Amino acid sequence: MSLSAIAERCYNMTSSYLNVTTNDLIIKDTQDAIKLTRRYLLEDVFTRWSPLNGEISFSYNGGKDCQVLLLLYLSCLWEFFIIQAGQSQYDIQYQKFPMNKLFSVYIDLAETFPTLETFVNITSERYQLSLYSSTREHGTKASNMSCAFNDFLKRYPETQAILIGVRATDPFGDTLKTIQKTDSNWPDFYRIQPILHWKLANIWSFLLYSGEPICGLYGEGFTSIGGIDSTLQNPYLIENDNMEKLPLKFQWEIENSYEHESDGINVLEIDPLDRDWLAKFGPDNYLPGWYLVEDDLERAGRIKSKK
Ligand code: FAD
Repeated sequence: MSLSAIAERCYNMTSSYLNVTTNDLIIKDTQDAIKLTRRYLLEDVFTRWSPLNGEISFSYNGGKDCQVLLLLYLSCLWEFFIIQAGQSQYDIQYQKFPMNKLFSVYIDLAETFPTLETFVNITSERYQLSLYSSTREHGTKASNMSCAFNDFLKRYPETQAILIGVRATDPFGDTLKTIQKTDSNWPDFYRIQPILHWKLANIWSFLLYSGEPICGLYGEGFTSIGGIDSTLQNPYLIENDNMEKLPLKFQWEIENSYEHESDGINVLEIDPLDRDWLAKFGPDNYLPGWYLVEDDLERAGRIKSKK
């Protein structure tokens, strides 16, 4: 699929979600969240920096939050194209989508899950990312994030602003703004953080509805993914007799997912190496990550594990 095709798909998928008429409070709340993010991107970001020439880049690590932001970013890119094309003297059918790849950056820090690495590769291709990878550039994993972004800026000095899929409920997230400069001890660029207002339930609702591939770790009880040595499955998702306490809140999204295929959830396979790794922690079965909607429990698996 070309960038133009995936951007148009994301636009249609987002419009379709926004057109859902429902009394479901999570969906209504997510529709409002999407509208606000779209407004930030189209009115505050694309009017300040061009999304077409490398001034804006996208920080992507394969997590669910930046995937959702990416779907919305692509959707807005398509809308931006349509608006610009409408202002041209030429009919839209004679106009070419102005980009082939999306500028993006992945900092390869800690040892990570092979499943996540594969997911980053598969989705980079699907979303047509021109993904700068710190390891590919330097041959070794980065020692810290700000140094890695310093190297990235040396390589792509045209970068003015970078999108980040951070939410207010993430650590220190409640102090962040939608558009702000980096801190003084970081390389100098603008951070664009257009999903700060999103709750965990909004992320699952839109992601499950989108029908897009979902990283296999989320299907195995992960809700927040960091390095392999610091992330476990979420203990609140262990399957036990209390299962009634965790009803699935997204049945509608799954059954009505965008252009839905067979069973509605497009969760990818977990890597056998990760399956072996997880087996070391015990025989428990875990519900998929989307059974958990409490923001304050999302990172309950992000602890130091003992190898
Ligand atoms: P997550 O919740 O997994 O990540 C939140 C988002 O950060 C992701 O959705 C993704 O967009 C991005 N991200 C996380 N890890 C990576 C990665 N390895 N490669 C690419 N993108 C990634 N901290 C400061 O103290 N001051 C700063 O000025 C500052 N500027 C930053 C600018 C950028 C572009 C980024 C990506 C991070 C910056 N940070 C800064 C660090 C940030 O505040 C978080 O500590 C960091 O993103 C990890 O967050 P997390 O553990 O919540 O991870």
